[in-house]
Amino acid sequence: MHLTPNRRLAIFLSKQSAEPVLSFHAWLETIWQTIQNDYPEQYPKLLTRAEQEILWEKIIYATQSEAPLLRTSSTARLASEAWNACHQWQVPLFEGNITDDSHAYCRWAKEYQSLCQANHWIDSAQLLDHIRDLIEQGTLSPPPTLSCTGFEEWTPQQQRFLDSCRQKNSSIEFHSLISEIGEVSRLPVRSKEEELEFAAKATKYWLAEYPLVRIGIIIPDLEYRRFEVERIFKEQLSEETFNIAAPLSLFEYPLIQSILLGLKLMLREIPFATISQYLRLPFFGQAQTEAAERAALEVLLRDKRKEHYTLESFIFALESCLKKLPEGCGTHLLASLKEVAALRTQFRGKRTAEVWKDICRELLNRLGWPGERPLNEEEYQLKEQWDTLLIEYIQMGRVLGEHSYGEAISHIQRLSKIKQFLPSSQLGAAPVQILGLLEAMGLPFDYLWVVGLHRDTWPTDPSPNPYIPLALQRSLGLPRSSANRELQVAKRITQQLCMGGKTVIFSYPYSVDDHITSVSSLLIGYPELSAEQIEPLGLTLVLAKKDAKEVPLDSAVENTLSSSVGDPVVNPSLDINTYAAVFEKNSNSEAKEAELVTFGGSRILKLQAACPFRAFADIRLKAKPLTSVRLGLNASERGDILHQCLLDFWKGLNSQDELNALSDHECCARTERVVSDVFEKWRLKFPHLLTPQYLLLEKTRTEALIQKFIQLEKLRSPFEVVGVEVEQKVVLGGVHLRFRIDRIDRLENGEELLIDYKTGRVHISEWFGARPRDPQLPLYCITRRPNPSGVAFGIIRPDTVKFQGLSAIEDCLPGIHTPTKAARYGSAETWDAQYAVWEKDMEKLAYEFRMGKAEVDPIDGETTCRTCHLKAICRVQR
Ligand code: SF4
Repeated sequence: MHLTPNRRLAIFLSKQSAEPVLSFHAWLETIWQTIQNDYPEQYPKLLTRAEQEILWEKIIYATQSEAPLLRTSSTARLASEAWNACHQWQVPLFEGNITDDSHAYCRWAKEYQSLCQANHWIDSAQLLDHIRDLIEQGTLSPPPTLSCTGFEEWTPQQQRFLDSCRQKNSSIEFHSLISEIGEVSRLPVRSKEEELEFAAKATKYWLAEYPLVRIGIIIPDLEYRRFEVERIFKEQLSEETFNIAAPLSLFEYPLIQSILLGLKLMLREIPFATISQYLRLPFFGQAQTEAAERAALEVLLRDKRKEHYTLESFIFALESCLKKLPEGCGTHLLASLKEVAALRTQFRGKRTAEVWKDICRELLNRLGWPGERPLNEEEYQLKEQWDTLLIEYIQMGRVLGEHSYGEAISHIQRLSKIKQFLPSSQLGAAPVQILGLLEAMGLPFDYLWVVGLHRDTWPTDPSPNPYIPLALQRSLGLPRSSANRELQVAKRITQQLCMGGKTVIFSYPYSVDDHITSVSSLLIGYPELSAEQIEPLGLTLVLAKKDAKEVPLDSAVENTLSSSVGDPVVNPSLDINTYAAVFEKNSNSEAKEAELVTFGGSRILKLQAACPFRAFADIRLKAKPLTSVRLGLNASERGDILHQCLLDFWKGLNSQDELNALSDHECCARTERVVSDVFEKWRLKFPHLLTPQYLLLEKTRTEALIQKFIQLEKLRSPFEVVGVEVEQKVVLGGVHLRFRIDRIDRLENGEELLIDYKTGRVHISEWFGARPRDPQLPLYCITRRPNPSGVAFGIIRPDTVKFQGLSAIEDCLPGIHTPTKAARYGSAETWDAQYAVWEKDMEKLAYEFRMGKAEVDPIDGETTCRTCHLKAICRVQR
């Protein structure tokens, strides 16, 4: 009998050996399965992993009255890990001076053990001891020879087992497929993604040069990066040349996720995120035929801003949205949902797994799962896996008993997370094996590339189990119990990796998640590959180490976009001046008016300054983010409400004198009235969002802010209100702009001052520079006639209420700067000079927009991109 520590090595060896080769765990399970089949009543049943998890959860849940803050599932996982470790390291239940956690674990473990005994069950941790007992009793004979290949470490439980086999005259042999250290080097690169790209390119080169070689790519966190790895390797290699040895759980495949999503439509509360996915997935009914209609429905539903639905309220909302679409839209969708809703009564109460299985099948049937499109090979295999999963769910009935529909879904989901699936296309022999760290142990390759062993990850950090006394863990050398143990394990594994290939390359990134890292101390002794050495592999070290942070954000985009200039908005042959002249001269001519496209307000210039591509995509291509459905008003809605309230407040008040004439009581009453009126309009629009208690909170908050701001207005020098929400229409750089100025005041000297209310974080420093980050007020200023003598933010936030701005006149407003004082922010020396700069800069931005300038050029790099919704389109961060 030939045994290996993992399945991958077993598959590799079985191709070269006439003897059966199994992984150690698979061998034990096969033995027990045979015994069980032969003597079903005599020997205990082996619990599956899902059943073990459920038992632990049930036991821990039952003790929740003692510690109600416990998170049952994660506590159960840790308790189960402690149970496994205690069996592997042969640790009896602890006693004496132990922590409360260890005490709790001992109670759970005793309960678990007695449940297993009472029901005649065993679990995977106990399996090896049971088989050893049978061998020692002479009931079971061990194989005459046990050949063990590739084992890195034996647990005390395994060693005891091997001793028992030896005592029964079994011969134990240990082999290794690797013995010599290869040519080892290390390669620093810029990022984790670049590591994969380099590994893929080098693999392509090796395969082209030496078609018969075996290549191993080791990725320690492969299970989390599988999709990224697959994408990058597919860019360089054909699919049949590489295998990714990281089977995903069924849950990670969209087809299986769609099942769980469909099942959740019958729960009492459906989050909007579930509904949004349901409308977009192609696996339900005539989803493809109705794709555009379903997308339009999702947008309409988002506008309702409702966070949770029941199936019935979802149907009701759909019916109201469908009235806004052409007749005949979404009919299949609506019909299938109504059919499902007709099943409602069957979902009440507790039932067995067998019954829930039938109900789930019927529900999916009515939803039209798996959709109208033919399944591909992989999806077909997944559909079969779903059937197997349901059988396993029914078998779990022995530990589940009767349970509710919600519990049924969570058990099915649990199974889908445990059950792994590797498409048949990934099972074949391929020259390139992409593996996790432990799976690669013992496998020999010609070329081995190991990624990601930098100083933050290698050696790994200790992570002792909280339920086993720490001193005990350290004295017995349990896995992850101490830094010293991790160091010793890392040293052994590094040594094995160095022997895993004739050529071995360890790559590591300089920077991970915005922080700088470096080579692991365990690899520092190996030579670093130079740019010249890797050039033949088709690799280029783009930057020296110290420059790593200076990579332009859009360097990737420059290589992929063919152009950074879109079509001009209008006749590009006209220069700015001619264009403006034509507009002025023909402002009444419809023909000429049509040439000037009205796009919007100051936002055009703001976006053009922030990133030309953003202005192009947002304004010209009309790329809009989907409305986010979440609890409460967002910042922009709060800002809109405050603007409306202040607009209403000043209606009928023409000056500071009139404001001062109001008594405190009248002022408060006026505020209360305008706030109440504005919120009432919003409540009618979003009744689900503005619940009575939430509404009260928001109204109180808004009233307090307005009152604070009004007090500030009273402290100013006298002023008259010339207008509120004053509409302006202008042509700038050939672009027709239209916007509204929140307020125009006339000061004591007769000059005008423009005010814009702001509820977010703003600063006048953003008005200056060739690409002003916030050009809104400068634009208002240069387009107002007669020219104003100042412009200011009215900042109204809970943490501060103040004015901030720039004016030719000193102290015309508290907090306003003259150009001399604002020089530190970048202002010109005089108001007239700054005015002239703004005229030039605004016109330039507008002109660039008109001419189609659409470069991916975020003004503050990543900071600008952070709040932009276009990353997926501009590909600035591939
Ligand atoms: S994500 Fe950045 S680069 Fe892309 S459009 Fe937005 S601001 Fe420009």
